[in-house]
Amino acid sequence: MTRENATVATKNEEVNKIHELQEKLKLVEAEAQQLRFDNTRLQSSLVIAKQLLTDLTQSCPICGKKMLLIDWNTSAYILACNNTTCSAYKNPIRTLKKEDLIWLDLASAQASK
Ligand SMILES: [Zn+2]
Repeated sequence: MTRENATVATKNEEVNKIHELQEKLKLVEAEAQQLRFDNTRLQSSLVIAKQLLTDLTQSCPICGKKMLLIDWNTSAYILACNNTTCSAYKNPIRTLKKEDLIWLDLASAQASK
């Protein structure tokens, strides 16, 4: 191999390495983007969880019994009085989207194992 050919080979290697690093950088950037997204979601879950804890310590304004989080339909839970003799029985005080409470499903899935 002439000296010139050797130099060209080295340059090609360097260019390949740069391309490899650029690909890696793209993956790292995508991962960082995902982590920022996850973090935002966790932050809002925390706000919802704190609110839920506050709500669950409330009593029904009619009968005074503790309110419950009730599985309402495929997309929502409701916070309501679960006392069948109360006039506010299952009147939603608050509605919570299941997609916002995904960790509740995870918790119940863990518990049922
Ligand atoms: Zn009640």
